[in-house]
Amino acid sequence: GYRKGGYHAARPGDRFAGGRFVAQRKLGWGNFSTVWLAYDTLHSKFVALKIQKSARDYAHAALHEIELLSALAQGDPTNSKCVVRLLDHFKHVGPNGQHVCLVTEFLGDSLLRLIRYNRNKGIGLSRVKEICRSLLVGLDYLHSELGIIHTDLKPENVLLVSTINPAKDPVRSGFTPILDRPVGSQYGGTVISFSEKMLKMRARRAVAKISQRRVSLGGFAAEVEKERNLDGISLKCKIVDFGNACWGDQQLAGEIQTRQYRAPEVIIGSGYSYSADMWSFACIAFELATGDLLFAPKNCEGCSEDEDHLALMMETLGKMPRKIATSGTRSKDYFDRHGDLKRIRRLKFWPLDCVLVERYNFTETDAQGFADFLRPILDFTPEDRPSAAQCLKHPWLN
Ligand code: ADP
Ligand code: MG
Repeated sequence: GYRKGGYHAARPGDRFAGGRFVAQRKLGWGNFSTVWLAYDTLHSKFVALKIQKSARDYAHAALHEIELLSALAQGDPTNSKCVVRLLDHFKHVGPNGQHVCLVTEFLGDSLLRLIRYNRNKGIGLSRVKEICRSLLVGLDYLHSELGIIHTDLKPENVLLVSTINPAKDPVRSGFTPILDRPVGSQYGGTVISFSEKMLKMRARRAVAKISQRRVSLGGFAAEVEKERNLDGISLKCKIVDFGNACWGDQQLAGEIQTRQYRAPEVIIGSGYSYSADMWSFACIAFELATGDLLFAPKNCEGCSEDEDHLALMMETLGKMPRKIATSGTRSKDYFDRHGDLKRIRRLKFWPLDCVLVERYNFTETDAQGFADFLRPILDFTPEDRPSAAQCLKHPWLN
């Protein structure tokens, strides 16, 4: 919460880094941070400002994220590898302590919003393919060039690339930046000549204007909602949130990933690598295409969420090979020595291509093509999953 060690409570019009960045409105938040749209008065453009919670652990996590994002930026001079670009970072002292702040390029809505606006429908296969291509370019870059595992790939951590420039297109974005610099002063100066009252007034006006038009800045989904289709919207996307990412040879956490996107080897504790990201990628692709989670495990009577999750995986993908099932530090919690689940004895097998036809009304051809692409990525044996580079060559994408 907003207390010592916690979030920094920012307001529209608040200034950061000696006045250079002016907070506009909140874009989102996670467990560790709040993210604001901010105006960079030095370069006259909008940026995203991630303000980390102030407690020491969070600061550590933010510095780690800066290290990884710096490496990502360095290896990608043309900013074309589908990962968010770090522009700057600094520390901000507020009433709740010292917050590490990351400045990144401003992106559009998350895939989560896109999926929500199209609930139970999916966004159409050609758009799914487009997003898959971007994601795979990003993953290939992370995995094979940098040696980084993201470990928390999910729709809310993938953002569409915004084509609306709020500065050049204030009408379409419904937005006028809140600027506080005194007329004629130097950028980044410390002199602040506008009164608090005046700033607050401008901030309120800007916020009212946004809610009136119901247009989210750079918000494709908001446009989608308005126009009821996605035509003409660029579906390039970028991977964000490297707060949990790690170097491939320096894995720390045993349990990674958000539940529904978690790979089987993580659940059974048999070690993970880059291929765990590939599993999450396949889950996202399915969700984009159908509007539903691929696996939505529940805590049921007599069995844990983990065990339900493993059962769901096997119902869709077939039985897990005994060798894999019994190979983890937690295997004994779920499996007997034959590699059968201890508490869930009767599985209702429903293969992926059949699910696509029978539940989501895919044509046979579409279902075959999509399942053909996804099935190898959802291999229970992590080493047998194709890499991002190999997926990019799959005929389904080309
Ligand atoms: P956390 O580590 O706290 O989850 P994230 O980096 O995932 O933080 O950011 C939280 C949310 O803020 C994202 O899900 C997204 O909605 C928004 N966000 C993050 N970065 C940007 C950006 N560069 N442009 C636009 N929105 C962003
Ligand atoms: Mg996040």
